[in-house]
Amino acid sequence: MQPTKISPATLSKLAKLGIHHRADLLLHLPLRYEDETQLAPIDTVQAGETVQVQGTVAHSEIVFRPRRTLVCRIEDEGGELYLRFLNFYPSQQKQLAVGKKIRVIGEVRMGFYGMEMVHPKCRAVDDDTPLQQSLTPVYPTTAGLSQPILRKLIVNALETLPLPDTLPDALLKKMKLASFAESIRLLHNPTPDIAASELEQRRHAAWRRIKFDELLAQQLSMRVHHKERSQRAAPKLDAHGKLTARLIKALPFALTHAQQRTYAEISRDLALPHPMQRLLLGDVGSGKTIVAALAALQAIENGYQVALMAPTEILAEQHYLKLRDWLEPMGLAPVWLSGSLKKKEKQHAAEKIASGETLLAIGTHALFQHSIVFHKLGLAIVDEQHKFGVQQRLALRNKGKSDVGRVSTRKDENADSVGLKPDLHTTEPHQLMMSATPIPRTLAMSYYADLDVSVIDELPPGRTPVVTKLVSDARRDEVFERVRVACVEGQQAYWVCPLIDESETLQLQTALETYQLLTETFPELRVGLVHGKLDNAEKARVMAAFKAGELQLLVATTVIEVGVDVPNASLMVIDHAERMGLAQLHQLRGRVGRGAAHSLCILLYQQPLSELARSRLKIIFESNDGFAIAQQDMQLRGPGELLGARQSGVAMLRFADISADEDLLDQARLIADKLLRDFPDAARAHLQRWMANKQDYLHV
Ligand code: ADP
Ligand code: MG
Repeated sequence: MQPTKISPATLSKLAKLGIHHRADLLLHLPLRYEDETQLAPIDTVQAGETVQVQGTVAHSEIVFRPRRTLVCRIEDEGGELYLRFLNFYPSQQKQLAVGKKIRVIGEVRMGFYGMEMVHPKCRAVDDDTPLQQSLTPVYPTTAGLSQPILRKLIVNALETLPLPDTLPDALLKKMKLASFAESIRLLHNPTPDIAASELEQRRHAAWRRIKFDELLAQQLSMRVHHKERSQRAAPKLDAHGKLTARLIKALPFALTHAQQRTYAEISRDLALPHPMQRLLLGDVGSGKTIVAALAALQAIENGYQVALMAPTEILAEQHYLKLRDWLEPMGLAPVWLSGSLKKKEKQHAAEKIASGETLLAIGTHALFQHSIVFHKLGLAIVDEQHKFGVQQRLALRNKGKSDVGRVSTRKDENADSVGLKPDLHTTEPHQLMMSATPIPRTLAMSYYADLDVSVIDELPPGRTPVVTKLVSDARRDEVFERVRVACVEGQQAYWVCPLIDESETLQLQTALETYQLLTETFPELRVGLVHGKLDNAEKARVMAAFKAGELQLLVATTVIEVGVDVPNASLMVIDHAERMGLAQLHQLRGRVGRGAAHSLCILLYQQPLSELARSRLKIIFESNDGFAIAQQDMQLRGPGELLGARQSGVAMLRFADISADEDLLDQARLIADKLLRDFPDAARAHLQRWMANKQDYLHV
């Protein structure tokens, strides 16, 4: 068999899944399996089961309530089953015409008319269409990449690539681990004697081998990179306490214990001659900004520059304004740099940064464009770091690299992935990353293999928790009225427009329509609109008007998801909340409840809800605690999807579950040391297989 040629379009979809090399296909393992080896008689199926049945279409019609839906009834000898399709093509409708024989597989539930399946997988059959011989793997995938195509690519990779074991034989025997090749083949193509449940619960020996390998790779890379970092150089930024103490004294509030502790951790790192790479994790509203400001002042006290970067213009500007308020009284004027500045202003800012006149630069990714050269960058702070790509963070780190004695080239960045070749002749800035996507600490540590993590686990006092309500779309009118009354009474509200298939254009369209509808419905209110396609100046103008209370109601897309801080806003409606992920809902909800007023978040949802959407809404309804939500999110979706891992294609642990697989983790720790000591080639090969994609990420 020849390796299949893969089209550029498919390659870019694979990249979204974190598959960049053919060998990565091997490690793209099934999420679950479909059992198409059997047919269940319809009268035996039970709600909650996923089964395959076969029958003849007895009825087929399109109904329009609550929304356009194709509803069919199929029958076999003993029973009948309804099928519902919310989105369907004419071809599907034809396939499901009365009299056709079809085979469907899906989850059964109790519907209005009786047992039903929503969006089952269907295919036309005749009396002697054979059943599948083994379980059908179902892979994680992305829009536009179908299961059959993905399956074919994986089968091809299995047949054309070598599958050597990276671990020495003796070790495998001693640890009673299955071989890599056998494990991989079995998981992609299980033999008929294995039950789907055993595979899906990941207890099978094949899974144990894969999970062990993954944990081992993680342990190896942590050791390698930790060692590597401790051999790199960074400016030693001692805590003199001059400026930091002044700021603390001038604040209108006292730091929480968690803020003091996390700043102390950062402060200690900055005073070391090696680059800090620390992640500051804290729930929405936990007060990360002031901790970042203190870190910045510590660098400034030592005569070094600081760059503070945020992923959106809205957020960056907010930081700029806040830090200006805090620091100007000390005679420190931050410089603002964003893509929307006029050319001349940009040039002016760039000059101040290059000459060292300004010690603090705040902005968007404009900060790491080529034309921006820092005089003496000592600390780079990245807010909402998971929103940035790996490349962008690398670029910022390179900005601060200064050569001492010899010229360094970009190539050093990807220096031998396993061998330790630190470049002792350059210094690089310290890095502080911040994230409001709270994740369990253990996950954070393994996810960001090489980062140190500080957690703000306490909210500032005096916050009133946001009350969350779930409201069915059928009661939309009542929600409208509620918004009107709130605004008339002097509150401010957000109306967040739905996500539509991740399509920005469609999302924009709904935002425009919603804006129009709300303006017409409430002629007495001052309504504003903000979305990603507005130019930056306009965006800033709308946000400023909302912040100043000139606008009462702000219609927004998810651009307001991160960081936006308007304390007077106390009501938020999230339209089609069922389409959003937990982390996103929690982030959005964090935009209210920032002042002393009682805040309300209304989650408008549309029936019918999928199981997943129902669980998500239940969790967000029941909890306000970002960490608890993240924990449950991890259980719902698996750790790989947290933290925007999907977008960046980087998920450190895709298979192992650090809570359930603790025994494997312990073994991996021991073996990692042994391997590095006694079998360095095996360690190298192992890291190559598992981490080839993640090198850059780990270097950031
Ligand atoms: P986040 O962690 O989400 O970035 P911010 O830094 O924006 O949170 O802080 C949220 C709000 O809480 C801001 O208005 C900030 O000034 C305020 N704040 C921060 N720390 C404290 C504190 N210790 N006591 C009272 N208010 C605080
Ligand atoms: Mg913030």
